[in-house]
Parts: sequence; structure tokens; C-alpha cells
Amino acid sequence: MKPPICRVCDKKLKDLNKGGLVYFTKRPSDIEWEKRMEEIGGVGHPPYAEWFCKKLYDKANELKYLTIDKALKILMLEGF
Ligand SMILES: [Zn+2]
Repeated sequence: MKPPICRVCDKKLKDLNKGGLVYFTKRPSDIEWEKRMEEIGGVGHPPYAEWFCKKLYDKANELKYLTIDKALKILMLEGF
């Protein structure tokens, strides 16, 4: 798992109650990644999950029906 740093504004999340990890809809490449991890018994940060600060967490949650690349594009535009 990646350290908790907001994907959009690079803010470190010192208090995890003030933000969190959002899992987005998996792309085919994400499903492939999961399969590979299962096969090798590996762990890692899922490519379809990202940390968000409090400011963006709710918005990110609303967008989790999207794939991460699409959601991030929207969040990056609206995040500031
Ligand atoms: Zn942020």
C-alpha cells in the first residue's frame, strides 16, 4: 500500500479520519494486475485505488463508479 498522500494535491494525510482510500472501478489492466498478484502471492498498491485528502475524498467517492484514470481527470480539474 502506498503511503497516504493525496493523489491530487500531494498533501500528506496525517489523520486518516480526514481523508481516505478510494477504490475505483477496475479496468481490464487492473483485473490483470489482481490476477498476477494472486498468482505470485504478491501484495502491492492496487492501481485502481488512491488516497485523497478530506477536501477531495467525498468527491472521489462519488466518482468511484468510474475508472481511476477518468475520475482523476475530473478531480484534477475540479480539485483546486
Ligand atoms: Zn488533496
